[in-house]
Amino acid sequence: MLTRRQLAAGAAASVSLAQPPDRPWDLLIRHGEVRDPARGFAARADIALRDGKIAAIAPGLEPRQAREVINATGLYVVPGLVDLHSHIFFGGGSVPSIDADTVAARSGVTTWVDAGSFAHDNAPGFRRYVVDRSQVRVFGFVYLYPANRDPTADPIRHARASMAPTAAVIANHPDSLLGVKVQIGSNMNGRFSPEFLRIARELCDEHKLKLMVHISDAPPEVPEILSHLRAGDILTHAYTGHGTSLCDPAGKLQPGVAEARARGVVFDLGHGLGSFSFAEARKCLAAGFPVDTISSDLYARNIEGPVYDMPTTMTKLLHLGMPFDEVLQRSTINPARIIGRLPGMGTLAPGAPADLALLSLEDGEFRLVDSLRQAETAKRRIFCRLTICRGRRLLAPL
Ligand SMILES: [Zn+2]
Repeated sequence: MLTRRQLAAGAAASVSLAQPPDRPWDLLIRHGEVRDPARGFAARADIALRDGKIAAIAPGLEPRQAREVINATGLYVVPGLVDLHSHIFFGGGSVPSIDADTVAARSGVTTWVDAGSFAHDNAPGFRRYVVDRSQVRVFGFVYLYPANRDPTADPIRHARASMAPTAAVIANHPDSLLGVKVQIGSNMNGRFSPEFLRIARELCDEHKLKLMVHISDAPPEVPEILSHLRAGDILTHAYTGHGTSLCDPAGKLQPGVAEARARGVVFDLGHGLGSFSFAEARKCLAAGFPVDTISSDLYARNIEGPVYDMPTTMTKLLHLGMPFDEVLQRSTINPARIIGRLPGMGTLAPGAPADLALLSLEDGEFRLVDSLRQAETAKRRIFCRLTICRGRRLLAPL
């Protein structure tokens, strides 16, 4: 015969089996060093995720409230990295690209911006086969030069003919297409002359679009290029080792550079195969001019070096003396604000999208190579341990 007490205990047990404890959180990341430069948050805390959003951030969150728990002891838990200049139009386009999800999974990136691997004529393909099919978030700038072109034809005429269809395709995809990309530099066989920039300016003014401008060899010089850029426009390859420089030979900022920043022009790193020089970066940093955004310009020809990924690119800035929190700020909230399409992107505040990177900051000897094949040894590196996008672990496809 069971006692009343045993009956009560049994009843309680059966109730708990029939109704398992409520676990409102999908994932709990415990004991991490949380860093959120967007709001100056830096503390050891737990982060709970639910329905693709951040549900709570606090120390000592109850693990039994979560269906899955990750121990992040010793790791930095930061907003997912936002790479403002990459090439992810896998399988086609003007640059041999990388696979968005595969590379993001191992590098902490939760948002890629493709910097003009495609033009208006293959932008619908970018939308259908990259934006819509990726787990990571994907945006793009449209290259003002059609992919399907007659190589013998006048490029200026081609760019003019591309204006209306470029504006139309951006208007059709305002959630994913951010603006127009052009390349300017005398090493482009005269093809990307200042006339290209004037055409792009006209197009962006008429349709109120952002303009991303690639710089490389002068002429044109930086002051002339910057005179065409407005608030929200982006100059990429800011620390290029080619002829174009933000500084004069004495190491002083060129005329118009500080003024451009003051009126809201964004200066982006865009490492790439040929566009990042340690010497140039040191010169600009010594002149008090850190880039606003750290981006990789990653594509198939530099993923095996010298770029590798975003954490390696961030490590280079850390190596040059930029504080860790500033490196994070320029790799998360700064580019997220420029994209400006998703509230909360780039921060870890409750209610924000559950896009996170778990990073380690490791001591050792790490060889870093710039685009001019100059090698240096860093004493610390930033390394990605886990990428979480839309509340789920990002796993590389088999
Ligand atoms: Zn690029």
